[in-house]
Amino acid sequence: MTILITSHHILTMVQSNAYDRKNMVANCFQDIHETMLKDTVRTDAYRDFIYNNKSIFAGKTVLDVGCGTGILSMFCAKAGAARVIAVDNSAIIDKARENIFTNGFADKITLLRGKVEEVVLPVDKVDIIVSEWMGYCLLYEAMLDSVIWARDKYLRDDGLMVPSHMNMWIGPVADPDYVADHIAFWRDVYGFDMKAMQAGIHEDAQVLNMPSSTVCGTAHPFLQLSLHTTTVKDLSFTRSFHTSLTKDIDALDGFIIWFDTFFMPSREDTVPEDAKAEEWAKKGNAFTTGPGGKVTHWKQGVLLIDQTKQQGVARRNGQKIEGTLEYAVPEDNSRALNVTVKWKVEGAEQDEKQLWKMR
Ligand code: SAH
Repeated sequence: MTILITSHHILTMVQSNAYDRKNMVANCFQDIHETMLKDTVRTDAYRDFIYNNKSIFAGKTVLDVGCGTGILSMFCAKAGAARVIAVDNSAIIDKARENIFTNGFADKITLLRGKVEEVVLPVDKVDIIVSEWMGYCLLYEAMLDSVIWARDKYLRDDGLMVPSHMNMWIGPVADPDYVADHIAFWRDVYGFDMKAMQAGIHEDAQVLNMPSSTVCGTAHPFLQLSLHTTTVKDLSFTRSFHTSLTKDIDALDGFIIWFDTFFMPSREDTVPEDAKAEEWAKKGNAFTTGPGGKVTHWKQGVLLIDQTKQQGVARRNGQKIEGTLEYAVPEDNSRALNVTVKWKVEGAEQDEKQLWKMR
């Protein structure tokens, strides 16, 4: 497998597993963990929540699901946790062990190599579960299944999930520059039609950073996951959405999906389903992976509408789009994700529908 790392496309994998962030083959560990640690939006958010809420962690037993380099375990130990149990099923845990020893936390942090579903924890219950399980389009990679499993088995009834809530968003995009550069481009390459090279671009969801200028309508919060109560069943769903265009466009090029992550200090705390992390600063810790925030390594999930058979139509500011969004896990690959959008533009003759795969 080849990995190409640039500042814009942090991770592009040639061959399959184009988006795989959580389960890299051994020689890629260094790069992916470096990328995650250098994602300061992500790592600062965990650090700030843990350090700003030391009283929550003081004297507690914490389970870190997927500890990677050990960073979140060390934040918790430094914040005063009595004991941290750090689990990871990959070889990175050997590095975590060294990092934890080097920083003087070997007496507080217990490391276990294996899937959290398979290792035997030295305790029956924990007070807090911390995990950074989020994948592209939030749910690609299905690591949340493991975190939910760990919660149901190990978290005390009054225990805390860190983070606690996710709000998922969809918005329409029009990006004629991207379409010209990456789609129309292939129709005339030094005078040759290379449309064969377009294959896949409309079949798979892309992971791209879309500047907010490409978002051409209102964003819709289509689903909230509350980590204290969410079940695996909730992770496959069909939700309705609507949006109003906020500018005139030559064509609707697609939809983008992103998520906001919230860290609430008590399991009784709620977060409105339309809360935006960007506006949450006064109330607590949160971060967005949306186009309005600083870029994270998740960028956004981009669903490009196939306009190669049917040309895009100009739309006006104020026109409404209504539709549904489905997340489904294919039967032959439990870690993949199929996203289907059905939509109808106000005044348009027919509904449209397209499926995008993440695999
Ligand atoms: N917590 C670290 C790493 C996050 S990446 C950080 O914040 O930087 C997620 C990690 O979870 C990966 O190292 C991966 O190997 C691990 N992982 C994924 N599924 C797991 C499972 N079921 N059990 C244990 N570890 C898992």
